[in-house]
Amino acid sequence: MLQRRRTKIIATLGPATDQPGMLEKILHAGVDLVRLNFSHGKTADHEARVKAVRECGLMLGREIGIIADLQGPKIRVARFKEGKVNLTVGAAFVLDASYDSNAGNESIVGIDYKELPHDVKSHDVLLLDDGRVVLKVEFVDGSQIRCRVMVGGILSNNKGINRLGGGLSAKALTEKDKADLITAVALEVDYIAISFPRNANDIEEAKKLISEAGGTAGVIAKIERAEAIEPEVLDDIIEASAAVMVARGDLGVEIGDATLPAVQKRIIHRARTLNRAVITATQMMETMIHHAIPTRAEVFDVANAVLDGTDAVMLSAETASGDHPDIVVESMARICLMAERDPNTQISRHRVECAFSKADEAVAMATMYTANHLDTAAIIALTESGLTPLWMSRIRSGIPIFGLSRRLQTERKMTLYRGVYPLPFDVTQVERGKLYEAAMAVVEKHGFVKSGDWVIITHGDQLGSTGGTNTMKLLQVS
Ligand code: PGA
Ligand code: MN
Repeated sequence: MLQRRRTKIIATLGPATDQPGMLEKILHAGVDLVRLNFSHGKTADHEARVKAVRECGLMLGREIGIIADLQGPKIRVARFKEGKVNLTVGAAFVLDASYDSNAGNESIVGIDYKELPHDVKSHDVLLLDDGRVVLKVEFVDGSQIRCRVMVGGILSNNKGINRLGGGLSAKALTEKDKADLITAVALEVDYIAISFPRNANDIEEAKKLISEAGGTAGVIAKIERAEAIEPEVLDDIIEASAAVMVARGDLGVEIGDATLPAVQKRIIHRARTLNRAVITATQMMETMIHHAIPTRAEVFDVANAVLDGTDAVMLSAETASGDHPDIVVESMARICLMAERDPNTQISRHRVECAFSKADEAVAMATMYTANHLDTAAIIALTESGLTPLWMSRIRSGIPIFGLSRRLQTERKMTLYRGVYPLPFDVTQVERGKLYEAAMAVVEKHGFVKSGDWVIITHGDQLGSTGGTNTMKLLQVS
């Protein structure tokens, strides 16, 4: 049987994917989830994109996950009279919270986040525009942060400000984020990504707002602040979230780029250990914004994320505003598929020494152990919440896990899990004695198993209720 890609691909939507026919092309090329970037675009743009994705999904006959990514408290300089300035090394430069927002010049500029002068102190190093311009704080004087230019260059309107080492204390959810969260819930997105969370409380607050708005979206914590990778803080954030994102853009600015590779491996490992999904993001195929082939370094980066155990790899500008989003997705899919041939992606010692606390969790683990040791063609999990397939997919394996559910939301959430393929199946509509036959027929119909193959099916006694998985059935396709 053909090898199927297990690692999921997330594509950010934007002007480039709005071109006629392009959305269909990238979905066809293998996109599993799309990302709506709330740092750009208006509500109407997001609405139109959600509608288009749902229509394309219907046409393709598979569910597509949708992630709404909230902007968060990105701290930025205000605007310059001339749109930009050129800062020279050694010059004095002032960031001033009470300065006219549109009147910046070579020696002073406003800042939108008015608390910044309280959050920085002498000797802090500020990185502007992803580190392209570096300022050292000499002293703070009321609303003014007086700096010296360490690395000069062009600084233009609204560029981001990070502090080396992190610790700028802006709350994760801004007023704009709260309004966008309501919009995202109304659009019935599957996941909402929170930018710059400092700790698990920021995630809890987002979850509360989502449920108050009547939403069911899972929260994705973007790990992009220095304080979020403190070991206990990271574990708390992971446990509070449905999934985490290694947001290498901002994180790299805060902790230094050379620190990123080891931190990526640690975040992926902790997420898998704590039974959560994990996304690797930013600059994965950056040169393909314009080029038709990736650099060798990009091929290795994507493949290494796959070997690290990521659930999904993400594209940002490559698809949102690149020259050829479809070609980028094809390349990424090809690299993931080849990387998954490495036998290390299919063997697991994960949790062999662990005790399990729940029956359904134990069944999920037993299924993976059996599947990895018997020549099994497929695992079929009859699931309400998607939790059993999530547990299963934390175990490295080459065997496809089909998550069969009658709930649309569950199908869409499962699009993120590595090696899990959602399919619609309503257990409440089949006769009890025909359950296995009917479930196998669904998977067979899609061409995933053939006569003589071993298949493992998991389910509960109470079909259609959550958390009751207690049965694992081995069957041979007749
Ligand atoms: P962003 O997040 O693209 O929204 O900034 C990802 C990152 O920082 O890497
Ligand atoms: Mn970011």
